[in-house]
Amino acid sequence: MVELHQVAKTYPGTPVVQALKPVNLRIEAGDHVAIVGPSGSGKSTLLNLLGLLDRPSEGHYLLAGRDVSALSERDRTAIRGRRIGFVFQQFHLLSHRTAAENVALALLYTGIPARHRIAAAHQALERVGLSHRLHALPTTLSGGERQRVAIARALVGAPDIVLCDEPTGNLDSHNAHAVLDLLENLNSDGVTLIVITHDPGVAERAHRQLQILDGAVSPADVPEARPTAGTLA
Ligand code: ADP
Ligand code: MG
Repeated sequence: MVELHQVAKTYPGTPVVQALKPVNLRIEAGDHVAIVGPSGSGKSTLLNLLGLLDRPSEGHYLLAGRDVSALSERDRTAIRGRRIGFVFQQFHLLSHRTAAENVALALLYTGIPARHRIAAAHQALERVGLSHRLHALPTTLSGGERQRVAIARALVGAPDIVLCDEPTGNLDSHNAHAVLDLLENLNSDGVTLIVITHDPGVAERAHRQLQILDGAVSPADVPEARPTAGTLA
């Protein structure tokens, strides 16, 4: 699903910051990977690259076999909308929109008619156990419920990949478990799940853990093992 070939990220400035050192990485479709590292180690940088929110300074990123490293902003936005869902620590819900509206907004640029967007949002909220809170404003929801709305928003477009940046960082342990259970259900249905966390309990639930330290990812995949784009489905 995801292949990085010598992908690196440098932020401009004086001095420039090499936030991610060249990394080779392969994540299979349906995998559940945790990325663990201290603050400032490059976790969000890596997630932003994987999520097509930012472009690598070097290297090639193949997403489902397609080189997406040098695509235009417009193409990356289209691929992001079709393939990738995001869940952030701070939920990032619009406070003056209902739960259902927040979820439906994720489908705004898909060409799906409004009526169908709302129906899909209701279905997604049902899936995360919030069918009784469709019309609630985020301020009236608990932290756990807000994160479930955010998960509904991530899954409503039927993404191939869900990227999570500290998804349980603002939750108590009960709600954290409920959120992880939901994310793992998605993964069981075939969604590739990539979770950034500094919580060892969250990382342990993944099939595989990657460490990141000072922008270096380990264990890195050996470059010899890389397949060519043509071998991907
Ligand atoms: P983490 O998510 O692990 O805390 P980040 O990926 O956010 O780490 O940051 C990695 C490094 O890159 C840090 O040194 C950070 O200060 C720097 N950095 C992150 N974003 C930017 C940016 N937009 N411009 C300059 N430096 C940045
Ligand atoms: Mg971060």
